[in-house]
Amino acid sequence: MYGFSYDGNLLHAEEIPLTDIAERFGTPCYVYSHTTLSSNWRAFKNGFAQRDVTICYSVKCNSNLAILSALAKLGSGFDIVSGGELQRVLKAGGNPRQTVFSGVGKSEDEIRLALKSGILSLNLESEAELARVQKVARELNSVAPISLRVNPDIDAVTHPHISTGLRESKFGIPIEDAVRIYRQAFTQDCLRTVGIAVHIGSQITSMAPILNALEIVIDLAEELQKDGMPIEYLDLGGGLGIQYQDEQPPEINEYCSEIIQLLERRNCDLKIAIEPGRAIAASAGIFLTTVEFIKNAETKNIAIVDGAMNDLLRPVLYDAWMEIVPVELDNGSDEAIYDVVGPVCESGDFLGKDRPLTIRQGDLVAVLNAGAYGAVMSSNYNTRPRSPEIIVSGDRLDIIRARESIDQMLELESIPEIYRNQSF
Ligand SMILES: *Cc1c(COP(=O)(O)O)cnc(C)c1O
Repeated sequence: MYGFSYDGNLLHAEEIPLTDIAERFGTPCYVYSHTTLSSNWRAFKNGFAQRDVTICYSVKCNSNLAILSALAKLGSGFDIVSGGELQRVLKAGGNPRQTVFSGVGKSEDEIRLALKSGILSLNLESEAELARVQKVARELNSVAPISLRVNPDIDAVTHPHISTGLRESKFGIPIEDAVRIYRQAFTQDCLRTVGIAVHIGSQITSMAPILNALEIVIDLAEELQKDGMPIEYLDLGGGLGIQYQDEQPPEINEYCSEIIQLLERRNCDLKIAIEPGRAIAASAGIFLTTVEFIKNAETKNIAIVDGAMNDLLRPVLYDAWMEIVPVELDNGSDEAIYDVVGPVCESGDFLGKDRPLTIRQGDLVAVLNAGAYGAVMSSNYNTRPRSPEIIVSGDRLDIIRARESIDQMLELESIPEIYRNQSF
């Protein structure tokens, strides 16, 4: 068995029943499938088979050291958005030479760390950032590999919070400024212009915006080539969506083959980098939680579970629909419609609304496709310790992040002497 599926009456993570995991580690917790994670990564690798491709897994969607280490073992590169993420990649055994650094506000310290580590490219998002990289590179007496992240003014047709390719967005350099800035960068000894980067958004469910963006960067690459400024590769970003509900995103192999076809049609033999996050990690994880109480409010039933918005923020942050299923299929109870909510004191604290479920107090439920933008977005709101993370591979199980303790949560806080003083 692979991934998350029912074996008889019980939902399993690969070969292990989720009831066993809950018993051992308690709930709420995140559970990942190693097999799903690696087969999603391999689908990208195989999809580009004949081409020279660097798969730069987007660290921000799930940055657990074990996840990064599993992907590094497969040969993955990484896309990072902070110095902290770079340190994770290095600690997990990732290759800095296959790592690109995105993000609109890189600090001097972060740029320094990136240059010293020898990363593949700093993907720059403004002229001010270009100037900062030049300054740091000169100070270090090194040559900074850079790409410009261009903003092609394309609507990714996704939730506004995760759309990044429109002119008004804070991301990227307007496409019409790109040639001028490349020219400026090209003359600097402390810079090496290695690529063109684009990333128009996340949870994209059709190929059209992705291919439109690719056409635009191929145009730009040709223009640069003509002007005597050849680049080495195109970085197409991430953004491929997954099916949470009834979306019909392209399959990974379809995504790859449509990109290859367009490159061939345009006679473009540049190397390719991609930065998939969600399409690799989302389906490799579930969020496991226990029904604490069932409340029959006047108009609808409410299931209060022990997992909350501090553990899984997507439902309230993006108004995201995530599938919720019972871990035990047939428990003899009748189906009813529930709002599944957490214990946090906010009306926005829900995991799902109007869900038909057969559940009783004490039952386990799983929120599916929670491997991306799940654990990484968790917080201590309401002084709730962050959930543990567990990875399963066949019948093997490893805990990869322990449940946080109250002491760990309070560790960095202190009470000034004056508040201890009676007379204050
Ligand atoms: C978030 C992000 C990604 C990954 O997006 P997914 O939708 O998870 O594939 C890739 N590149 C950049 C620059 C990003 O900000």
